[in-house]
Amino acid sequence: MGGQVDNLPPMVSPLSVMADDDFEQVAYRYDAPTGLRAIVAIHSTVLGPGLGGTRFWPYVSEEEALIDVTRLAKGMTYKHAAAGLHQGGGKAVIIGDPAHLRSDELILAYGRFVEGLAGRYVTAEDIGTTQADMNLIGTVTSHVAGRSEALGGSGDPSPATALGLVWAMRAVAERLWGEATLTDRHVCIAGVGKVGGALADHLHAQGARLTVADIHPGAVAAVVHRTGAAVVDPDGAHAVEADLFAPCALGAGLSAVTIPELGCQAIVGSANNQLATAEDAQRIQDSGVLYAPDYIVNAGGVINIAEEKVGYERDRANEQIARIHDTVLTVFDLAESAGITTAAAADRLAEQRLTEALNLRRESPGLGQ
Ligand code: NAD
Repeated sequence: MGGQVDNLPPMVSPLSVMADDDFEQVAYRYDAPTGLRAIVAIHSTVLGPGLGGTRFWPYVSEEEALIDVTRLAKGMTYKHAAAGLHQGGGKAVIIGDPAHLRSDELILAYGRFVEGLAGRYVTAEDIGTTQADMNLIGTVTSHVAGRSEALGGSGDPSPATALGLVWAMRAVAERLWGEATLTDRHVCIAGVGKVGGALADHLHAQGARLTVADIHPGAVAAVVHRTGAAVVDPDGAHAVEADLFAPCALGAGLSAVTIPELGCQAIVGSANNQLATAEDAQRIQDSGVLYAPDYIVNAGGVINIAEEKVGYERDRANEQIARIHDTVLTVFDLAESAGITTAAAADRLAEQRLTEALNLRRESPGLGQ
């Protein structure tokens, strides 16, 4: 473990929570005038700068924040690798409640912290931060993605994530039913926020039948109005008899309790970390349901962001997002040929790409410097 700690406020040792993993750098910033307490975790820059959003969240302790930021940063390494992107894995957290702590001065202090990491970490929007925050950060550092399109950024990634889910669903349809079409298929979407709502619109336009659930009645009403979807209680969404189940709310919804109750033939959703435990991948497979791994199918947003490097154009980004269709089929093939779960196959695909890049660097040390 090669962690490096900058400007350490009183907090736990990263060694205690990351003992079994390698991180290239973990950096801390405490800025007394603004109350900023932030951690950036850079898991890997083997494929490129560590890119990942900034989560502004009222963690109960710095240890909890550190666990979250490192887990999320590693997830970004795998997501980018499997998607074939030249981006590494990083993530950041700002500790506190944005409703009370957020100020322009704090966001700017955070932006200067990102600038100090000299491009090894590139930030973006996540829970608790907004596109306006990214625009502000962009005034003090160029190492920011997902700014407004008017400023040369790629804007809100949610529509791109929803489009990627549609491509993943088409791949699943091809695998299960022999045709890459969603017409007349029944899809149950749990969580119709930015991603789930846009997904509902795509599916409705393609002639799918919808059932939706959300804890926010206004979100449900808007989707029902646009698509004529049926409605189910959020607690029962996973059990709806449907062709596809799309978890698009929170993670950890697929567990020893919910998996035996699944009513779908396949799972394709945007929520990160859908499996409550690693064992749940095997549980889903044993129950005869096909699981399209979360970080493979929700990569549309990061593929969209990657297009900023070459000058963002939405049409070209959408063409790149379509690659998710082939990646999903590659993962299914790998799982079948190796006799492993689809989740394990996704990890193997990502690790293969990381190993290839590392070997290339060893052979040609000038590369990637
Ligand atoms: P969002 O906050 O806009 O939408 C989430 C929706 O889920 C909200 O409408 C909320 O009311 C609802 N919800 C919360 N708990 C629920 C429950 N128990 N049952 C049913 N509905 C519930 O968020 P989003 O941007 O649409 O993201 C959805 C998920 O996809 C998140 O897990 C996010 O991390 C993940 N994700 C999003 C993107 C993106 O581009 N936005 C990219 C990758 C992954």
